[in-house]
Amino acid sequence: MISVAAAKQRILDAFLPLGAEQVPLDAALGRVLASPVMARVTQPPNAVSAMDGYAIRAADATSLPARLRLTESIAAGDRPRHCVGVGEAARIFTGSQIPDGADTVVIQENCIAEDGHVVINTGAVRQGQFVRPAGLDFREGEQGLAIGRRLSARDIGLAAAMNWPWVRVTRKPRIGILSTGNELANPGERLPPAGIYSSNSFALSAFVRACGAEPCNLGNAPDQKKAIVTAIAAMQQSDLLITTGGASQGEHDLVRAALEEIGMKLDFWKIAMRPGKPLMFGRIGKDCVIGLPGNPVSALVTAIVFIRPAIQRMLGALPDPADEPFDVRLGAAVAANDEREDYLRATLRKEPDSTLTATPFNRQDSAMLANLALADVLIIRPPHAPAASAGNLAQAIRIGGGCLST
Ligand code: AMP
Ligand code: MG
Repeated sequence: MISVAAAKQRILDAFLPLGAEQVPLDAALGRVLASPVMARVTQPPNAVSAMDGYAIRAADATSLPARLRLTESIAAGDRPRHCVGVGEAARIFTGSQIPDGADTVVIQENCIAEDGHVVINTGAVRQGQFVRPAGLDFREGEQGLAIGRRLSARDIGLAAAMNWPWVRVTRKPRIGILSTGNELANPGERLPPAGIYSSNSFALSAFVRACGAEPCNLGNAPDQKKAIVTAIAAMQQSDLLITTGGASQGEHDLVRAALEEIGMKLDFWKIAMRPGKPLMFGRIGKDCVIGLPGNPVSALVTAIVFIRPAIQRMLGALPDPADEPFDVRLGAAVAANDEREDYLRATLRKEPDSTLTATPFNRQDSAMLANLALADVLIIRPPHAPAASAGNLAQAIRIGGGCLST
């Protein structure tokens, strides 16, 4: 058995960032930038008003009321035609260009307009107020978004404002997912005697999609070497193949043998982790295969710990602070740990003093998907950690990290 950290490093070392492609902004949400987004324009391009009101020279409003002659009305998108001279003002709106001569905007609520003039009645007038100078937001040539950024709605807005109709992003990793087990049927199908519904294919497809990859669901293969080999052959060009089930040492655990038959070189099998001990990693030529355990909780917990970082690596994504372990207080006592790093499913609660309490479920059976669905975090118990009481500090990772929910 190798440690979780060593297994993760060996998996990460096997992946490199993939190539790039160009996508329209409409399709860019959640994608990872392969080229930086630099401003192609200055924003705002000229000084503009931040309010509806009047553009004036501040020196004309040192004592109130002040009566100024109106030169013109400037809508957003209009070019001013007149310079504002001494004793003059221009009607102006949010986003309108400030005319030459004016240096300040007074809001319309403080004014009354009458026969070609405006009277400013109240409000202290500070020079430059409500004026957005040219380039306040960004200037042409400045960097808006860095390589490796996973694009949010805000980022897409910024790229649009910087005049990018499309962005260059890393290609989505293609990931094949094969479930194995005689007992499996798909939801909606009639269950065979002693059958269960295959949750892993669906959970893992959704998981890798949420991480930014493109899943290819290869369905369920029965526990026969030939059937497993045939199912894998259906996958054209993948960046990673994931199998679930059949990874232990029983007579019906045939995944390793089937993969070796098609040329897999085993890198490691079995890790010091609970759940997830029978994790397997190997390569067929240059292609990577990760064999996950069949138990649904084990499959998803190992996906969080190993597959999410592998996808991040392929995408060239910057590290996401939401994926980092953080301190929690235990909401219940936990027993001393053995040699396997333990990942306890737990709910998270914020205390009135802002500390976070993670309370593990009483039963930590790796077949209990309903508990996993209710869990917010995984408490990490290092190998040989001593028994701990409620209130003691521990480390946890979020189950649903990143910009999309996993
Ligand atoms: P195995 O790793 O094949 O020994 O499977 C361990 C446990 O996980 C067994 O109880 C299987 O029935 C269950 N299991 C295996 N594959 C799946 C799957 N795709 N969906 C749900 N449960 C599964
Ligand atoms: Mg099985």
